[in-house]
Amino acid sequence: MTPARPPAGEDAAALRWLVAMGVDEAVDETPRNRFAAPEFTAPVAPPPPRPAPPRRAAEPALVPTETLIEEARAAAAAAADVAALAGAVAAFDGCALKSTARNTVFADGAPDADLMLVGEAPGAEEDRRGLPFVGPAGRLLDLMLAAIGRDRNTARIANMLFWRPPGNRAPSTEEIALCRPFVERHIALVRPRVLVCVGGVAAKNLLDRTAGITRLRGRWFRFPPEDPDGVAAAALFHPAYLLRQPAHKRLAWSDLLAIRDRLGR
Ligand code: URA
Repeated sequence: MTPARPPAGEDAAALRWLVAMGVDEAVDETPRNRFAAPEFTAPVAPPPPRPAPPRRAAEPALVPTETLIEEARAAAAAAADVAALAGAVAAFDGCALKSTARNTVFADGAPDADLMLVGEAPGAEEDRRGLPFVGPAGRLLDLMLAAIGRDRNTARIANMLFWRPPGNRAPSTEEIALCRPFVERHIALVRPRVLVCVGGVAAKNLLDRTAGITRLRGRWFRFPPEDPDGVAAAALFHPAYLLRQPAHKRLAWSDLLAIRDRLGR
């Protein structure tokens, strides 16, 4: 016989009654379909591991400029001829300009010429082609040489710097000091009869003067400046300047004639 359901409020009796009725587990207030597939809950992925900080390349030790200049001096002095000097310049990593330049621009022309011209630094076209004075200023320089019966085969052409300063900015004192041992060795190996400093940067640095190109052109100096038997040296307006100031070509042409006379040809 089924026991009578106890009246509300008698909890213990109600529980006993439920057990007697066969209830053997507690159920929720709302029905659940136990045959339905369990709801999928994506496992919560642990946060990805943080990327390891990029391994820093070993920073190059900061070498003092004086040490790099010493390196340049030693490499330049060890070069027995112009070809060896070109190799030493190409192998020299002490000037930071090398890392932004496309090419090392060493020189053009005859390595034993009696006329040597030294300009400032390679520009964009020189950097692309690896040769000095091959851009617009170089084309004017060719005409200036032709005016005194010369060309690239009968002159040596180089620069104070072997690498293009980014954006054609002016060379820094440090860059000039780093390249200078090679430039001096180059002049010593070529041993020209006449050295022409093309533009103010070459003139001031090679002739060791503070005056500007307008005051230095039209005169004769020696290189090295302290050597009375050094190479006869002159300063010439830079062709890039003459392209902007063509009125000064008259002075430049008179300087070229003086150079031609000094060469005695
Ligand atoms: N200006 C320079 O001084 N040198 C070059 O080679 C080109 C432009």
